[in-house]
Amino acid sequence: MSTIAELALADAPRLVTELPGPQARALVERDARVTSPSLPRAYPLVPARAAGCVVEDVDGNLLLDFNAGIAVTSTGHAHPDVVEAIRRQAGELLHYSASDFYLPVYVDLCERLAGLFPGGGRARVFLTNSGTEAVEAAVKLARWHTGRQYVIAFFGSFHGRTYGSASLTASKARYRARFGPLLPGVLHAPYADSFRPNLGRSEWDFPTASYLEGVLFERLVEPEEVAAIVVEPIQGEGGYVVPPPGWLAALRELCDRHGILLVADEVQSGIGRTGRMWAIEREGVVPDVLVAGKGIASGMPLGAMLAREEVVTWTPGTHGSTYGGNPVACAAALETLRLVEDELAARAAETGDRLLAGLGGLARRGDAIRGVRGAGLMVGIELADHETAAALEQECFRRGLLVLSAGDAALRISPPLVVTPAQIDRALEILAAAVGALD
Ligand code: PLP
Repeated sequence: MSTIAELALADAPRLVTELPGPQARALVERDARVTSPSLPRAYPLVPARAAGCVVEDVDGNLLLDFNAGIAVTSTGHAHPDVVEAIRRQAGELLHYSASDFYLPVYVDLCERLAGLFPGGGRARVFLTNSGTEAVEAAVKLARWHTGRQYVIAFFGSFHGRTYGSASLTASKARYRARFGPLLPGVLHAPYADSFRPNLGRSEWDFPTASYLEGVLFERLVEPEEVAAIVVEPIQGEGGYVVPPPGWLAALRELCDRHGILLVADEVQSGIGRTGRMWAIEREGVVPDVLVAGKGIASGMPLGAMLAREEVVTWTPGTHGSTYGGNPVACAAALETLRLVEDELAARAAETGDRLLAGLGGLARRGDAIRGVRGAGLMVGIELADHETAAALEQECFRRGLLVLSAGDAALRISPPLVVTPAQIDRALEILAAAVGALD
């Protein structure tokens, strides 16, 4: 058996059984008897160990991970520096609640994150255990600070599954069905999705800002009652949809005009994934509030809400959390941010270009792929329909490449930021073969 460090060196899948193998099948059967049937399982992957961009399953198969545990393991699985930071912190202080007391590593991380706020202005930070809790914090702060009730989000967006963030989420009706009533005061507007226009012939004929001004603010709510517009700078679960240049700046301008807070949900697009620390920086737009999670601590549960100092006006006791900003998660985040800032964001930009170029070539070779889009290592492949996307996801899994479908008919590619050019080339070959097998 190889060591965990040797695992990371594999450039290609190595399958010793058909997938899923016997151990995986046995585990899936046990799981099916005791776990919540609400879990949206994609395929029977049962990882035992992982390093870098490589997952070893319980049967000893090696698979190339182009999911990164759903855009989480930014520094790769088990990066030695992150693992060492976790070990060190766990040996010193596992828990003390930062809500009621003071933790050195919590302050270290908040200082670090505040220093990363887009635009370089002064910011404050609230730490959580997950992305959805960070979204909740943003909505609560926006209402508290502005004294306004309404919040606007976008069709196709995903912000989480707790009640506030589920109310913002509008990617699939099933995430909301039978859970109502949801949070009152949440309205939705079309995102700039050139593949799937929500209104009009195409989004470009009916820009979002005109919809907000001409429809929502005319017919449903006065802008003076809107606390925040919550937007993913690149939609994640909605299909890795990249809005056109200038779209986020137009939202910023509209928010400024009406005293509305602009909240950037960077849970999926942040932490170097697009080649910059935050995707919104690609557009030079400064939000009032930024929400982070997923890749922030390389797999330890952590989320963060960063906000311009002037808007963080709430008072002691208005918001807190027992575990949020757990010391071990904070230690992992500090190491993750160091690695992303020093090398991985730049690397994601380079390897992302290679991935996008390779997928472009693949798209030109046949009809199955309708388009590719993305930034850095956040890349979406648009397919003919949902069934094709789901079939391609399964076909890739059978060949040892882990990718996930997203949106209505897309496949999302989000490998760890440490992915090597050789691993990208191998993934492209597998995708090509998988597309071929669909015909
Ligand atoms: N926001 C975005 C953009 C996300 O992609 C997700 C999760 O996929 C969330 C929020 C929720 O994060 P979590 O699953 O950590 O609660």
